[in-house]
Amino acid sequence: MKTFYIETFGCQMNAHDSEKVVGTLVGQGYRQVPTPDDAELVFYNTCSIRDRAEQKVFHRLDQFKRDGKGKTFAVLGCVAQQEGEKIFEKAPHVSLVCGSASYNRLPELLVQLETGSRRVAGLSLDTEDTFETPFARRDNPHRAYITIIEGCDKSCAYCVVPFTRGPERSRTGQSVLAEARQLADMGYSEVQLLGQNVNSYRDPSPAAWDFAALLRHVAQVPGLRRVRFTTSHPRDFVKDIVDAIDEYPVLCNHVHLPVQSGSTRMLDAMQRLYTREEYLRRIEWMKATRRPIAITTDIIVGFPGETEEDFEVTLDLLDHVKYDSIFGFKYSRRPNTPALTLGDQIPEEEKTRRLAIVLEKQRAIQIERNAAYVGSVEECLVEGFNRATGQWIGRTSQHKTLNFLRPGRDQDLLGRYVDVRVTRAGPNSLAGECVN
Ligand code: SAM
Ligand code: SF4
Repeated sequence: MKTFYIETFGCQMNAHDSEKVVGTLVGQGYRQVPTPDDAELVFYNTCSIRDRAEQKVFHRLDQFKRDGKGKTFAVLGCVAQQEGEKIFEKAPHVSLVCGSASYNRLPELLVQLETGSRRVAGLSLDTEDTFETPFARRDNPHRAYITIIEGCDKSCAYCVVPFTRGPERSRTGQSVLAEARQLADMGYSEVQLLGQNVNSYRDPSPAAWDFAALLRHVAQVPGLRRVRFTTSHPRDFVKDIVDAIDEYPVLCNHVHLPVQSGSTRMLDAMQRLYTREEYLRRIEWMKATRRPIAITTDIIVGFPGETEEDFEVTLDLLDHVKYDSIFGFKYSRRPNTPALTLGDQIPEEEKTRRLAIVLEKQRAIQIERNAAYVGSVEECLVEGFNRATGQWIGRTSQHKTLNFLRPGRDQDLLGRYVDVRVTRAGPNSLAGECVN
């Protein structure tokens, strides 16, 4: 039996793709091992969203340039799709490159390798298929990912995803529901629906469910207590999604809605397809719900042409929305993207300065927002135990980390739902005591 090791870089889509790849490999008779040293086959499932992410995989491969003899190296995912067979030149010890749109072909590509081919590639983006497999090897025993849509049909000026993951393909609503039911039967209480833009979902079967309809159906699967979804694109974020969250408490009250910039001029240059005002209307819908919805976002600073004034209005947006948390990024030039040809690139030091200001402002907002939870009781799914502090690690429906003590009782709480009174708050987490 052949052994393999896999390391995953990047987003949750990649993490779940790897779970499916592992399942596929195990189904083909391969055995997973925990380190590359013990493996005959070494897989890297890669990310190319920013330059730094892309460099990581070449750095890993470099480590094996000399002492990787006898091993087979494979590059999967976004770098594989973006660089294609050029990877064989950059890293001659690589034997397989395969983009995510070709994962269905992995078993066949592995057979080619085993039967003597020196180099094989799966790089076609011309597919209507999604990567569905009954074999996914899920890493988390309580929360399971379900891919509902792959690829992206938008063309944000900075982004490689449309080039690395191909066109949008939605799964049928019935296959998503069948997977959700199966996961609930297996004991998972939380599922997370995944896609680059989950809310662009459109059931290809005659039922033609949109995303809100899919949410309502998944919310009613017996046994599921929490349903999350990420990422939502503001352009396709309709009010019906907010209504569904309000109707079904099983749908977690957390929405990740990447804004990228608070300046309509920049949003236009980024080809984001919404204005600041349209974005803020969606925020107003969420702020008007019965159950408070936690809102998180992504911000890019230093997109070409971003003036001090554009930057200031992004800071103003943070003040206005008061996000529960954000991911902030410095703009990174990516191959093939429309923004490559734009002039007026912002110097690296200036991007660093702007990012630091954004993160500092957001830290102050989070301290203020989290402080408002002190005294409240929150239901947590217990996800871990910190031996150093003796605290359990819980997650609220709003996706906040709540560390808590449970004096006098040491039974295993992992995977259970408990109520916790919040006693302290920091910028990135809450702390409290279990009340049941
Ligand atoms: N589809 C989602 C959307 O439209 O909001 C985002 C998916 S993308 C994988 C995740 C985040 O990476 C984006 O929201 C953006 O903030 C960031 N990102 C993408 N391309 C980038 C680039 N070239 N430079 C810096 N950040 C980038
Ligand atoms: Fe990238 Fe834009 Fe597609 Fe999101 S919507 S994956 S940012 S191109």
